[in-house]
Amino acid sequence: MVIVGAGIVGVSTAYFLKRAGVSVRLVEARAPAAAATGAADGAVSVASKRPGPMMATATAGIRLYRELTAEGVLDGLFFTRSTFLVAVDDAEAEVLATHAAALAASGVSVERLTNERLRALAPSLSADVRAAAEVREEGHAIGYEIVRRLIARAGLAVERGVRVDALVADPRTGRVTGLDTGAGRIEAEAVVIAAGGGSADLLGLSGVLRARRGQLLVTERAPALNAGLPGAIMSARYLLSKASAPGAAPAASARGYGLVIDPLRTGQFLVGGTRENDAARPDTDAEAVAHILRDALRLVPGLASVRLLRTFAGLRTAVVDGLPLVGAVPGRAGLHVATGFEGDGICLGPLMGRSIARLLLGEDPGVDLAPFDPARFREGRAAA
Ligand SMILES: Cc1cc2nc3c(=O)[nH]c(=O)nc-3n(C[C@H](O)[C@H](O)[C@H](O)COP(=O)(O)OP(=O)(O)OC[C@H]3O[C@@H](n4cnc5c(N)ncnc54)[C@H](O)[C@@H]3O)c2cc1C
Repeated sequence: MVIVGAGIVGVSTAYFLKRAGVSVRLVEARAPAAAATGAADGAVSVASKRPGPMMATATAGIRLYRELTAEGVLDGLFFTRSTFLVAVDDAEAEVLATHAAALAASGVSVERLTNERLRALAPSLSADVRAAAEVREEGHAIGYEIVRRLIARAGLAVERGVRVDALVADPRTGRVTGLDTGAGRIEAEAVVIAAGGGSADLLGLSGVLRARRGQLLVTERAPALNAGLPGAIMSARYLLSKASAPGAAPAASARGYGLVIDPLRTGQFLVGGTRENDAARPDTDAEAVAHILRDALRLVPGLASVRLLRTFAGLRTAVVDGLPLVGAVPGRAGLHVATGFEGDGICLGPLMGRSIARLLLGEDPGVDLAPFDPARFREGRAAA
């Protein structure tokens, strides 16, 4: 079997196949975690997910992180913590209340906090915060560290610098039999496309997948301030920018802002970010950085005396209907796809990799993949 793309999804797929005794080739145009996986925050979180399949799948995704950690596979890389949803005005408070109710209805451990309780738990937060909810049993993991660990654990040999240019198919049956790459043709009984933004060209889905840039900031260490935030702080506006709040539509505007302040275990803060549709490159700009900083200071005023160390950006691969593409590609026997995880692929990557591996092994994937079925799109158009 050949897997295209060594981001968290492709590497997870290869890991679970190899663990089941299947021989795999993992081809990667650049290097492992070179794209979105290496530019992510790392929230392994259900707090920001849209109610419905994404919320349910994220819960299963977190569970798998816990299982892999208990088995020792992700030992020292996955850490449990809470996410605090916060609101600074009436409109945000309403979004927060609705979303917290949706999380509770889907079985997530979430609790609305009184102001007193919030101040006791998170003294670094501004008095401007007027409503909050704690989402428990969330987690954090750094994407490129997960990738590195799974590669090492499975003894995977990533074929770096091998860009796949096209699929090779039997002209009579349409069955995919291999790949044309810059390093020559590769024959394959089965192919999994986990190429993030590169999947669109390979599958003829350029009208379905779009790049959504995110800009993030990293501060120096500020241990005292960091200790005053016991988990990630997620503004209710973030739910709107991500179209996760019930009723919110996927953002149509070019640039949306939604704030998450992540107190890292190093004592630093990771602060983001933007959602920018159809961005060509993962670069940052002063306008966005200034906007993010202003928003962050409103929630955590103590950040004013903390130095900004660097800014960076990445491209999330989003599907136009807001749900990923996971499963067999219709009309192309031998071909599976797993992509379009937008801002959720660190959380969902290992689970989706295991699901695809199970499908290829003829097993039950263990999660409901029907909402993510690629058959809903054909050659760039919504299926009739
Ligand atoms: C700023 C930002 C913040 C984020 N924060 C979070 C977060 O907090 N929590 C969360 O869960 N998710 C987050 N994400 C989303 C997450 O990073 C992605 O959903 C996830 O990394 C996608 O993984 P992937 O393996 O599908 O794709 P990628 O990591 O993009 O990997 C695809 C790989 O395929 C390779 N490739 C592409 N085309 C070809 C080709 N033709 N031939 C060979 N190889 C090819 C690429 O080089 C790349 O290495 C964030 C993303 C960004 C950008």
